[in-house]
Amino acid sequence: MKKLILATHNGGKVQELQLLLKPIGIEVLSSKDFNLIEPIEDGETFEANALIKAKSVFEATGISTLADDSGLMVSCLDGRPGVYSANWLGPQKDPLVAMARLQKEVADSQNLTAKFVTVLAFLNGGAPDFFKGECVGTLTFPPRGDQGFGFDPVFIPEGETRTFAQMTKLEKMAISHRGKALHAFLEFLKNG
Ligand code: IMP
Repeated sequence: MKKLILATHNGGKVQELQLLLKPIGIEVLSSKDFNLIEPIEDGETFEANALIKAKSVFEATGISTLADDSGLMVSCLDGRPGVYSANWLGPQKDPLVAMARLQKEVADSQNLTAKFVTVLAFLNGGAPDFFKGECVGTLTFPPRGDQGFGFDPVFIPEGETRTFAQMTKLEKMAISHRGKALHAFLEFLKNG
């Protein structure tokens, strides 16, 4: 495989995934390069939504496609926002809106444990393949750092004192949910 499309319009995800895919000689494109519209993500699981995104791009282009569906699962909110994490950004897709809502919802809780989850769906003509990664950590307020995207400024991964937004992309990818899922995908490519 020489060429791979990342089925996402999220610039943050594209940058993180490109970081590890480009060095191994894969030409990495994204949905934006093809002016493809984003499909409606109405699945109830990360797998279902990742597959919806992968299918819409693969069916339009016929080029190998990798889709990322991810989200933040907060223990004291019974796993919310989970697959609905993107909805919390509001109509302006503003991470500050999402983080403010999160702070409000967890306000009375002593337990700020949370985890990020990523599921990658890969389509290359046959049945889809899925790769999952998780990263456990703790929420912190107010937000800290200006790297990354989404909820990164309020999430401290286990064993760290910095938020994801206070790390370089490479540091984040070494321990993150997306990094773990991508490593599983790279192993799959190596052995395939
Ligand atoms: P979706 O995968 O497009 O449904 O979007 C998931 C949403 O979860 C993103 O828009 C972000 O707000 C959030 N999210 C997913 N992955 C990350 C991450 O690595 N850091 C911070 N926020 C994330």
